Amino acid sequence: MYNTIIIGAGIAGSVMARKLAEEGGEQVLVLERRDHIAGNCYDKADEYGVLIHEYGPHIFHTGIEEVREYLSRFTDWYDFGHEVVANVHGRLIPIPFNLNTLHMVYEKEQADRLEKKLIEAYGEGSRVPIMKLRENEDADIRQIAEYVYENVFLKYTMKQWGQTPEEISPEVTGRVPVLISRDNRYFQDKYQGVPLYGFTPMFERMLDHPGIEVQTGTDCKDRLSFSADGTVLFDGEPYTGRIVYTGAIDELFDCVYGRLPYRSLNFVFEHYEQDDFQGHSVVNYTVSEDYTRITEFKHLTGQKDAKGTTIVKEYPFAYTGADGEIPYYAILNDKNQALYEKYKALTKRYGNLYLLGRLAEYKYYNIDAMTKHALELADELMAKRA
Ligand code: FAD
Ligand code: UDP
Repeated sequence: MYNTIIIGAGIAGSVMARKLAEEGGEQVLVLERRDHIAGNCYDKADEYGVLIHEYGPHIFHTGIEEVREYLSRFTDWYDFGHEVVANVHGRLIPIPFNLNTLHMVYEKEQADRLEKKLIEAYGEGSRVPIMKLRENEDADIRQIAEYVYENVFLKYTMKQWGQTPEEISPEVTGRVPVLISRDNRYFQDKYQGVPLYGFTPMFERMLDHPGIEVQTGTDCKDRLSFSADGTVLFDGEPYTGRIVYTGAIDELFDCVYGRLPYRSLNFVFEHYEQDDFQGHSVVNYTVSEDYTRITEFKHLTGQKDAKGTTIVKEYPFAYTGADGEIPYYAILNDKNQALYEKYKALTKRYGNLYLLGRLAEYKYYNIDAMTKHALELADELMAKRA
């Protein structure tokens, strides 16, 4: 009856569902274990009427025209240049560390000299990962690098990952490079902002298609079973259609080789009967506190009609797989990749099973890269069938 069963209604599963139904003319079933769609992008009004992001602040940012265009079919946008500041001993400085930040933390004469050196070394407008900056042979540049390392990266990374910046994949700290420019924005992508009416309505429209059926509150494990001989049963009957799985790969195989490690987050929401809490959408706490950052939603969503303001603090911890915990961040290293590959090898038994998404691929995807990958895989799958 269904050409494809998709597990997970996050951005990966939802984009895939829409493409297969609309362009492939397929009947698609989406199974989602949470009681809502939109995965980690889910947003909703809280009890005070403030639009919040339940699983942490999400800003859509991309330079990929195709992705912006595709998602624009389902939403208008509230566009803004997303800015983040760090609270360093009570002082707020722009993050990523850039030439404006440099002038805030050094005296004018010294800052002018250091700026010149940085531009000479890397070129105006360049993006330098902190771990690269620390390797520079010039003592002055290394001094800046040490300042940034100590005041922006060390403590925050210890909180977020339980490891130092040296111990984690350079890809991760490389996401927030030192900017040799006066651009205070967190991302440099052409498009940035949030869906005008929220992420969830964007997903609702994407999944609203006659070829798509969505069942929330449904764990795929209760409907699908995967036998060691390669057969798949759906509601107890053999199923030979396609399956696109966007959940955690280790869970699919009952964690037979042990759990893939993840970092998780505890989100603590607070509401204040005041107009403004921190004057910024996101403040990173890079030298103090147990939480990594505070997000004040109305500055992020542009909401004007809410009374009071709601914030969220993020407390990272090591995911254990206990009930209610959510795996958020894959921990990228060789050992974990090797374990991932062992699980991936098990999927080969099932000719029609495809892995897609942050969890199924054990990768660090942004929304835009995830969308692009889902679009590409959908094209590939449709071509295979034709
Ligand atoms: P998910 O959104 O996690 O969706 C997977 C879905 O599968 C979930 O809904 C889950 O419930 C469901 N599922 C899992 N197992 C089963 C099962 N057994 N049965 C049924 N359903 C199941 N990206 C950005 O571009 N900008 C940002 O600002 C940004 N901020 C982020 C902040 C945080 C705190 C985090 C953790 C991520 C952030 N991201 C951001 C990344 C973004 O969340 C991901 O790129 C995106 O959510 C990946 O989509 P996905 O569909 O792969 O996964
Ligand atoms: N990071 C940091 N201090 C900051 C911002 C980022 O140390 O003020 C490091 C930290 O290790 C973090 C990584 O850079 O995990 C990537 O940051 P990003 O904001 O991209 O993380 P995400 O939004 O995915 O949580």
